[in-house]
Amino acid sequence: MYYRSLSAYLRQRFGGKVYKLALSAGCTCPNRDGLLDTRGCTFCLGSGEFAASAVLPVAEQLEQARRLVAFKAKNARYIAYFQDHTNTYAPAGTLRPLFLAAIQAPDVAALSIATRPDCLPEEILALIAELAQIKPVWIELGLQTIHARTAEAIRRGYPLSVFEDAVARLRQAGAEVIVHQILGLPGETEADMAATARYIGRCGAQGVKLHLLHVLRGTDLAADYLAGRYVPLTQDAYITCLEHCLRLLPPEMVIHRLTGDGAKRALLAPLWSADKKRVLQQIRLRFQQDDLVQGSLL
Ligand code: SF4
Repeated sequence: MYYRSLSAYLRQRFGGKVYKLALSAGCTCPNRDGLLDTRGCTFCLGSGEFAASAVLPVAEQLEQARRLVAFKAKNARYIAYFQDHTNTYAPAGTLRPLFLAAIQAPDVAALSIATRPDCLPEEILALIAELAQIKPVWIELGLQTIHARTAEAIRRGYPLSVFEDAVARLRQAGAEVIVHQILGLPGETEADMAATARYIGRCGAQGVKLHLLHVLRGTDLAADYLAGRYVPLTQDAYITCLEHCLRLLPPEMVIHRLTGDGAKRALLAPLWSADKKRVLQQIRLRFQQDDLVQGSLL
């Protein structure tokens, strides 16, 4: 059994345990604030939380986040992770001091920024290139699927060509790219998901986060689910799709996630996904039983 887990990769690259510190740049999302749409992606729980938030200074956010992991992270190093919403959806002049404060902290080993590929104008790419001179910079892009009909159905809001262009320009800027793929999107077959994974493996990215589609209360996806128009994956089907995708990803690609972190309080379905620890155990068990090897179908 082999897949390139994030924890093994971090140990190898940074020579010890590395923890993530979740930070906020206080950005909104163009798929929510009206630039592209006001409804957001159909699975996204956006209600209320998408107003631009006044955030604490980054140094204070770092300190608070360090305290959360302090019990297990003595003398650890960290990845400063701007996670919420679209973290490059603001002028470079606004973001520069935030990102610099994070990347320059002595115990921060790398900076990770989650965003959309259509929110990377030249001034932001220049900022990313500057940051990548200081420490490794990871840019996380929510692709989810390569299939245009699904992208439209979930209201992703940009075509595949925009993603392709973003990956090329990010690599040129010296960033490492991590792509998000969601398994179990409406109307997608196992072959569709495998095609997305195969594409991600070839697109020039260094890492991938594989997620299960969660149905969260209050979303448009929840309305579809309650009306019987969307049926979530069973745990068994999820692991089968996951294995198929991993077999199509190059062995050197880092697997940052094998499943997602759903907003537990809002989770409507599938309920088997609520106990993440148990799900990960089941995934590892199947990987062992099936002797899963990342890249074996390439
Ligand atoms: S999933 Fe991401 S891109 Fe889609 S609406 Fe939510 S924050 Fe915006």
